[in-house]
Amino acid sequence: DSVTIMDITFRNTTQQAFVNDYVEPRLLAEQPYYIVTANPEIVMKTRSDSRYKQSVQQADVIVPDGAGILLAAKIMKQPLEERVAGFDVMLDLLAFADQHGLSCYFLGAEEAVNERAVAEVKRRFPNVAIAGRQHGFFQLDDPEVAENAAAAQADLIFVALGLPRQELWIAEHRDKFTKGVFMGVGGSFDVLAG
Ligand code: UDP
Repeated sequence: DSVTIMDITFRNTTQQAFVNDYVEPRLLAEQPYYIVTANPEIVMKTRSDSRYKQSVQQADVIVPDGAGILLAAKIMKQPLEERVAGFDVMLDLLAFADQHGLSCYFLGAEEAVNERAVAEVKRRFPNVAIAGRQHGFFQLDDPEVAENAAAAQADLIFVALGLPRQELWIAEHRDKFTKGVFMGVGGSFDVLAG
């Protein structure tokens, strides 16, 4: 139940099953888990950048975030169930974190956007613990940013650094974390901030 397109192996699942059956059990078990909701842009970038490709292939699970990927799978006669959209997964996980009082770390976007996005999370998901936040304009190999994020011991680490920075950052630093579900969320903080 997976389909490989351009060396990227997609799990064949639905949005709801992905959140309920893959991510939520790892969250409750405090198991480190790196998820990629790969859109066509991500897949194309892996073709031209081998370091980026490795950072995506390191994910524990990859799901298709885009009609183009579903179409490619269909043409290969190995259809995928449905699109699993990164922004929707993030909202579902925030709702789950709200229900269970889990903590979240918010890494990325401009300082003012990051601040507004976190304020919006607090307003919409009041039971979520804010483990910390950090804007996204720093050197990728800055050890302090990663150490601070790891020290926060968050259940969920949302990484909004855009492509290719977010997957490179997660792949580079995830070993410093004892737990946490990691997810690159692209421009989602900008959407949340409104
Ligand atoms: N971003 C960041 N640091 C950077 C570059 C981008 O935090 O060095 C943030 C940017 O502010 C935005 C998010 O990453 O909130 C997504 O950026 P963009 O839309 O350029 O990336 P894409 O959606 O193409 O992945």
